[in-house]
Amino acid sequence: MNSETACVHGAQFFDPVTGAITVPIYQTAPFRHAGLGQSTGFDYSRSENPTRKVLEQTVALLEHGEYGLAFATGMSAISSIIKLFSPNNKEGGRKTHFIVSEDLYGGTYRLFSEYYAEYGYTFSWVDTSGISHIEAALRPETKVLFIETPSNPMMKVTDIQACAGLIHQKGGRLIVDNTFLTPYFQNPLDLGADFVIHSGSKYLAGHNDTLSGFIVHSNKAFEEPLLKVQRSEGAALSPFDAWLTLRGIKTLSVRMEKHQTNGRRVAAWLQGHPAVETVFYTGLSDHPQLAVSQRQARGHNGMISFYVKDARIIPSILKAVKLVLFAESLGGVESLITYPLVQTHDAIPEEMRLSAGINEKLLRLSVGIENPDDIIADLDAALGR
Ligand SMILES: *Cc1c(COP(=O)(O)O)cnc(C)c1O
Repeated sequence: MNSETACVHGAQFFDPVTGAITVPIYQTAPFRHAGLGQSTGFDYSRSENPTRKVLEQTVALLEHGEYGLAFATGMSAISSIIKLFSPNNKEGGRKTHFIVSEDLYGGTYRLFSEYYAEYGYTFSWVDTSGISHIEAALRPETKVLFIETPSNPMMKVTDIQACAGLIHQKGGRLIVDNTFLTPYFQNPLDLGADFVIHSGSKYLAGHNDTLSGFIVHSNKAFEEPLLKVQRSEGAALSPFDAWLTLRGIKTLSVRMEKHQTNGRRVAAWLQGHPAVETVFYTGLSDHPQLAVSQRQARGHNGMISFYVKDARIIPSILKAVKLVLFAESLGGVESLITYPLVQTHDAIPEEMRLSAGINEKLLRLSVGIENPDDIIADLDAALGR
């Protein structure tokens, strides 16, 4: 099935009784058993729910994976996957080591550095767009390479295939957060990744109206352990949010195409604006990793970061935008503008933030699906001359 078709038809649910062509919202906690030892396959909605199951199968299908698991948020999906790896490494009592993209979602940084580091895991934060940087950070106890590509907010691109080769040679696993491109434009499992992570709150659901998170993989050995984490931790996606996410996915292909068209237009326009110093967008012809993007992805998103020449104009830009909303998220139909320094990336220590390029001059745009002329007119008025 082509991916546009898979978005619309997904796991192809038909209600066997009524013929309904969309899955109902099975708003129930328990499921009745007909007798001892007799289950419909559904017992209690923390463990499994029919609406959630159709969504899990749909996301797995789109990501070319065997198994899909849905969680309440992207963060709970990330927190759950870490449970597959014990903090204590048997080899020489060393602490299990992760190599992580340094330029990534601020919440992931906070989860790893403020919680999992306390439990004994160790982390190296690396610019993964350079494979030599990853090689230099490898240790005997490295078990996981966790990457975001394109990265957030600097839009660096990491070579997924090269990462898979490197970490597999050391017996470790590759986790790719694919929130920014979605399975419509990129399939990390096909490029050798072991796990794909999503914040479904962004492009997948796509309407800035719900939260969800996913893990997709194809490894039978991880099927039971991950179901056990999902069941035990209980960060289950609610039936209604599962339904909203499914509803959003039906239009993923047309939205992503439009985000890309608008993203290209706005990025090119920003490059010519006198108040703008540098534009970071994966679709620009001078993007340093354009060749890698073209090899591993089928398109670009609507995510653009840019430096203004003078940071003093930022408060007035954020106050002046009208159509483009000053808010902290991405991937929805509405265009949003974010100030990473104080919003999404405030948990990252200053030194690391600055070395990644996240400074007081940086703004991030999630270009929506409005008419691009209206987006540009709004930004033009806000940026001033
Ligand atoms: C938003 C986001 C997350 C976290 O997802 P939530 O659904 O907000 O918990 C993780 N990774 C990336 C790349 C994100 O953009």
